[in-house]
Amino acid sequence: MNFLHMAERKGFALLADQIIAHRNDQEKWTSDMLHLVDMSEKFLGSFYGEDIYVQARKQLKENGRWARFALHALQSVHPRVAKTAALNGGFQAAFLGRQKTLSLSEKYGINIPWIILMDPTSRCNMHCTGCWAAEYGHTLDISYETLDQIISEGENMGIYFYMMTGGEPMTRWNDIRKLAASHPCCEFMLFTNATLINPENVQEMTALGNIALSISIEGFEETNDSRRGKGCFRRVMKAMDLLHRQGMLFGSSTCYTKKNIPDVMSDRFFNLLIDRGCLFAWFFHYMPVGQDAAPALLPTPDQRAYVYHRIREVRRSSPDGQGRFLFPMDFQNDGEFVNGCIAGGRCYCHINSNGDMEPCVFIHYSNMNIKNHSLLECLSQPLFRVYKKRQPFNHNHLRPCPMLENPEILGQMIREVHAPSTDLMAPEQPDNLFQKCVSYAAAWTPEAEKLWKESHPESTHGSNS
Ligand code: SF4
Repeated sequence: MNFLHMAERKGFALLADQIIAHRNDQEKWTSDMLHLVDMSEKFLGSFYGEDIYVQARKQLKENGRWARFALHALQSVHPRVAKTAALNGGFQAAFLGRQKTLSLSEKYGINIPWIILMDPTSRCNMHCTGCWAAEYGHTLDISYETLDQIISEGENMGIYFYMMTGGEPMTRWNDIRKLAASHPCCEFMLFTNATLINPENVQEMTALGNIALSISIEGFEETNDSRRGKGCFRRVMKAMDLLHRQGMLFGSSTCYTKKNIPDVMSDRFFNLLIDRGCLFAWFFHYMPVGQDAAPALLPTPDQRAYVYHRIREVRRSSPDGQGRFLFPMDFQNDGEFVNGCIAGGRCYCHINSNGDMEPCVFIHYSNMNIKNHSLLECLSQPLFRVYKKRQPFNHNHLRPCPMLENPEILGQMIREVHAPSTDLMAPEQPDNLFQKCVSYAAAWTPEAEKLWKESHPESTHGSNS
């Protein structure tokens, strides 16, 4: 960071201290937050569009839902964690970093992401049915030095947000805490099964301040444990209670399937997450990837449409009707907020535990490995360039994916750039993926078109295909 940016960060840090100090005095807190909106507008100008500042001011002045949510989050999270998340995720990643990634993207003519998702290991302490970590075997690690190198190169390019999955990232806790300490301006999010969370590592996380957690949960006790093993659900609840008590920033991560949708979309499930202190909830549509995939678990069009409406409803209101908060995100149905597919470095990319730089955690093809190439070279690989050229893959962002909803496109791209399969257990041909997705895509299309027209009456585009 240059001197000017350090001074700007310092200015935001002072204001963050003030905002946190006033978190129990709504009037002062609102005034501080309005000051933050003014400062952000001055700093960023029209970078994110004027409407965002207008809406933020309106929310704060009218004590709207999002203002109440922000205050609730601030009151539940440890001051150090809240301040670091705001500075690293806000000032560093969304403000400073985003400007840099966009200018480099223009300079090199490639996508530069603002998030990198990495699997530091394929090792896991559990053996869940259908998990991609199980597919990749349990023997692969990216060395500390390589992880450190990726993050250092990323910081130089304006990338300050690093997510980790696996395998179980907590099996690499000693390395992850070193990385978090060595890169204090970066924000880290670990997707974890939570069974290795303990009072000591939670205390270390709180002291570091720049780590958040997304905890895997597949439903209630019986469903969760049938996939993840007996006793897992109770261990997850225990971990969430501990994280909540210590003021950690955390949420949940759930894969929704034909089987578990009634459970994981129920009021009871959302209220369970809120009771345990989750502030956000990721929902991932089941993807039929790999040799053990079960296309029978793909949601029906009615189920997917239900999830679309249900997640928007929970975001707008409260599942218990008492105004309690949770921010659910639907990786597949929320494409409209990010203009479709975010992969291939457009917003994010994935590095598997072998070091292969893949467009997305669900797309196991790559032309380059981070162990032999720089981050910039990996982001410049042919597969990422063809992603950039063809994104968005559909004008209807309820059909964003080149695999799931537009399955012919992935095969075309893979063949065009000769990207080999990076699935380490059993290389998968794109034709095989196509076969698993084609009938799903055809069944979803009419429902997706109907929903898109209803929510975007001004749209003049039909679908691409
Ligand atoms: S490749 Fe598919 S699953 Fe991955 S980000 Fe794009 S749309 Fe989503």
